[in-house]
Amino acid sequence: MSFQSLGLSDALLKAISKKGYTTPSPIQEKAIPPVLEGRDVLASAQTGTGKTAGFTLPLLHYLSENPKAKFRPIRALILTPTRELAAQVHQSVKDYSEFLNISSMVIFGGVNQKPQVARLRQGVDVLIATPGRLLDLHNQNLLSIKRVEVFVLDEADRMLDMGFLRDIERVMKLMPEKRQNLMFSATFSKDIRKLANGILNNPIQVEATPENTTVEAISQKVYRVAKGKKTGLIIKLISDGNWKQVLVFTRTKHGANKLCKKMISSGITAAAIHGNKSQGARTKALAGFKNGSVKVLVATDIAARGLDIPLLPHVVNFELPNISEDYVHRIGRTGRAGANGQALSLVSADETTYLRDIEKLIGQKIDVEIVEGFEPDPNASTVPIKPGQNRQQRNSRNSGSKNSSGNRNNRNKSNNSRRRNDRRN
Ligand code: AMP
Repeated sequence: MSFQSLGLSDALLKAISKKGYTTPSPIQEKAIPPVLEGRDVLASAQTGTGKTAGFTLPLLHYLSENPKAKFRPIRALILTPTRELAAQVHQSVKDYSEFLNISSMVIFGGVNQKPQVARLRQGVDVLIATPGRLLDLHNQNLLSIKRVEVFVLDEADRMLDMGFLRDIERVMKLMPEKRQNLMFSATFSKDIRKLANGILNNPIQVEATPENTTVEAISQKVYRVAKGKKTGLIIKLISDGNWKQVLVFTRTKHGANKLCKKMISSGITAAAIHGNKSQGARTKALAGFKNGSVKVLVATDIAARGLDIPLLPHVVNFELPNISEDYVHRIGRTGRAGANGQALSLVSADETTYLRDIEKLIGQKIDVEIVEGFEPDPNASTVPIKPGQNRQQRNSRNSGSKNSSGNRNNRNKSNNSRRRNDRRN
């Protein structure tokens, strides 16, 4: 199939060819036709599958073929969970609309609102926004979305993880009832289906990758290792393998900073990216990672979500995520576009339950290796450490208990506290 056969306008085909795309990706093949028909679409697609063009191209086609002559209300709203993703989507919208008379802008928090307000006043066709700043400006009567014709909810699963459900519901009430709705999500939980039912009208469901399965091109491996030896092991793996570009995930911001410092002191160029970093620092770290001047990018899940890093050869889970779906998101950063990738996880005793949950979710056992000199500690507790809890607290509360039946409740509680923390970022 070609982009021409999808029925996109010449101006869009010109922009696509300028980007160097020759054939539509599977999600584009499946999503573009129903979006062009004006249908509501529920799409299952991870970052890296080309989903952004999957909704942006038909959206731009519709707007440019049906111009509104007189004034410029916001005609399309794309809601994203993070600032990085919002900025990336905006870049795509700009690239694809280069030869169209369509204006777009992005708004997100953490930066001065004044330039955003000034730009809004000039009229905008496509607005890309994070929920907080959108509602903030709306509450100040600085923007209106009551003429939105197409609404896109991107990375809906992450929206819910970050506690944006209420904000999404508020946004829905500010738009006209008659509109086209497109919803993208990498995973499909019960909550996501419920949200989809509330937003979408008789949607067509399209899928790019099977739900919650890991891409075949990714080779996965677990290194069982003592907690205290993880830093030494990751430095050894990077140095021995002469790895040039590694994305490393930690569970906490503090952990990301600490690991980053240790890497730098052993002569490996590294940068950390997380919610406590300014927008400028995050952009700089990502740019350095992309251009090769920074070998290792240490990130938390929230910060890494939506990052556009093509053809990443190595992803390392320095710590396993306590939410199994995050594992799928994390390793989805490697092996993109058919390239082979390696996803490695350093797993200590207290992460045993997380590993078991992940293997259950992806439906496969991950090969295990032990590196000489970095063996696991046979006496370490297998009680999972909760986010926000230090080792001392855990030991005194659980005092050696290996009860795993209460684990799911613990994790649910932890997820909630994690979500609250994320909202503050
Ligand atoms: P996304 O999943 O939207 O974040 O896109 C992932 C990457 O794939 C981005 O770098 C896009 O520029 C690129 N991309 C999107 N569509 C295509 C295509 N049809 N052919 C080649 N690359 C593409």
